[in-house]
Amino acid sequence: MDVPSNLQVLLCDAIADRRDDLVSLTQDLIRIPTVNPPGRDYRAICDYLDRRLTRSGFRTELIRAEGAPGDCDEFPRWNILARRDGRSPGQCVHLNSHIDVVEPGEGWTRDPFGAEVDNGRIYGRGACDMKGGLAASIIAAEVFIELVPEFSGAIEISGTADEESGGYGGVAYLAHHGYFSPARVQHVIIPEPLHKDRICLGHRGGWWAEIETKGEIAHGSMPFLGDCAVRHMGAVLDQFETTLYPALAGRHTDMPVVPEGARVSTMNINSIHGGQAEIPAESTALPSHCVPDSCRIVIDRRYLIEEDQADVKAEVINVLEGLKRTRDNFDYALRELNHVAPSMTDRDAPVVSTVAAAISDVLKQTPEFVASPGSYDQKHIDRIGKLKNCIAYGPGLLELAHKPDEYIDVTDMIDSAKVIAASLLRLLGPQREV
Ligand SMILES: [Zn+2]
Repeated sequence: MDVPSNLQVLLCDAIADRRDDLVSLTQDLIRIPTVNPPGRDYRAICDYLDRRLTRSGFRTELIRAEGAPGDCDEFPRWNILARRDGRSPGQCVHLNSHIDVVEPGEGWTRDPFGAEVDNGRIYGRGACDMKGGLAASIIAAEVFIELVPEFSGAIEISGTADEESGGYGGVAYLAHHGYFSPARVQHVIIPEPLHKDRICLGHRGGWWAEIETKGEIAHGSMPFLGDCAVRHMGAVLDQFETTLYPALAGRHTDMPVVPEGARVSTMNINSIHGGQAEIPAESTALPSHCVPDSCRIVIDRRYLIEEDQADVKAEVINVLEGLKRTRDNFDYALRELNHVAPSMTDRDAPVVSTVAAAISDVLKQTPEFVASPGSYDQKHIDRIGKLKNCIAYGPGLLELAHKPDEYIDVTDMIDSAKVIAASLLRLLGPQREV
């Protein structure tokens, strides 16, 4: 590959020298508790990034996703988009990170927003998913701009809201407003925690729905005078166990999904509620005696790129319609909650081959090509932005995401930053490939 290797060495050395800056940047980001839901502190983190990136010569724009789900005066959906143009026209490389984190949950032995450094790791909610990736991509871009000031094209860095709740107040909003149109942006790297030697090409699809079975309320001592909605739901679950689950397990994808268990179709039953509302734990009241007239479940169906969303929905409806024919008084309602299409970038797309070459060259490792079992913001860049040249590549272990004592390894962040800078060099530097 025709890359000035001395320049690449200089970039990598300069990134290694910025270790302290990388650590303190990551710590600052973790200490802003951007928990979603409800979508806290988006403005605070955007202001922080604004100060940092303005200092590094970026033009910045703060964009509120007005009217997006969850956007309100108490929890406004703020996003930041920063752009630095090079000396001559060329392609635009966009580095996109989500700024939200999930709630800490139970089981932590460290302060989830303390950003404690211990033994080469930084601990905290969002450390790997994905404030470490955001920090690594900022250091990579800053060092690249410093050492290759004559670069062509443009570098964009965005910090976007709400990825953990679907991305509608973040990347989807920006994509709807043209920020990811192929005329404006040519390459997108999302530094999600897929690990420093892996390139994630895309993700499976998802379909979420609520199913309600209906019954008739009556006194619990005379259930034959009513109709128990929970028993009807039992019949639904039984059909799922005997027909739907075996069918899903038999469907395999060619996508390189990791872990391998997710290379088949899957369905989670998210929740089940039936009958009267639960009595709060602190209450000493006793339940009244009633036959439940409603039972609801929420299903989370993850489907393969080889499957069609209409079929995914139809096979669930078939189960329900089958019960309507065979089971007395069976009645149901189905409410669709959300749908996400699968996305898969071509193995030979320019951003894929560029980052793959950078991984081999900088880390002396053979890159692994993977796909994600759950979706991330690539779906919006693909479907709304119509931009097909997008991958996830970043430091951290996916298994740690959303877990207690989540951490990011500092050396992994440095290595990923080197790969990102080497990719910028290939795409925007002198003697770049066309
Ligand atoms: Zn993430």
